[in-house]
Amino acid sequence: MSTNDQALRLADEIARDQAAQEAPDSARARLEALDRSTSRANVQDFLHTMIVKEFAGRIAVVSSFGAEAAVLLHQVAKVDTAIPVIFLDTGMHFPQTLQYKEELTRFLGLTDVRSILPEAGSLAREDSGNTLWQWDTDRCCHIRKVVPLDQALKGFDAWINGRKQMHGGARARLPRLEMNGAVVKVNPLAHWTREDVETAFKVHNLPRHPMVEQDYSSIGCWPCTAPSKGADLRSGRWSNSDKTECGIHMSPSPRVAAGRTA
Ligand code: SF4
Repeated sequence: MSTNDQALRLADEIARDQAAQEAPDSARARLEALDRSTSRANVQDFLHTMIVKEFAGRIAVVSSFGAEAAVLLHQVAKVDTAIPVIFLDTGMHFPQTLQYKEELTRFLGLTDVRSILPEAGSLAREDSGNTLWQWDTDRCCHIRKVVPLDQALKGFDAWINGRKQMHGGARARLPRLEMNGAVVKVNPLAHWTREDVETAFKVHNLPRHPMVEQDYSSIGCWPCTAPSKGADLRSGRWSNSDKTECGIHMSPSPRVAAGRTA
């Protein structure tokens, strides 16, 4: 593990601890009970509990429509095709990703996919030429991803995402449930292996992102994505720097830390 990954993992654990401390005791106790009661559930039963029972009408999915997105969205769609799916449209995605988003939406029958744009004023002030990524990727991710997601999640008490421990780095100890301030992050595929993902694609005949066959194993914005190298699936993300995460998973937002209960 690189020094940067160690630092990220430490920062993530600190943020997680901080988020847990900022959550109301009742919400924390409820999450721990939920974690215990679902610890043996398979992914389908786990998602059914989260979507239909625990957070009914108050839960969304966040998807990049990237290389592995189909496996999570397929599992979610089996429970509820009408669940809100949030796609952060940074304006910097590959055209293939936008086409894949349409294809996968149709294939799975998803009825509420929301493309969330960055705030126009922020772009005008800070990145009118779409070049901020060249010298400040953290700020670019902040205005194009972190802030828009924070806005899009207003009104939700939980959100589902597709991170997995096998991605390594700060994700290596990812739990299935975690607090982010007073909001719950649901990570149903946290324990899935690369083989699990491949099997799901084959068994369910899920469409692939067209760039996967060109060795893109993790796909984000075009300026910050390259083909993967070796076993590290995320090695092509921000490959010319130490950055490994966009920021939406690194810390609780001030809004959610302010106190809605889960
Ligand atoms: S991934 Fe790159 S282009 Fe996309 S928001 Fe982050 S820095 Fe900007």
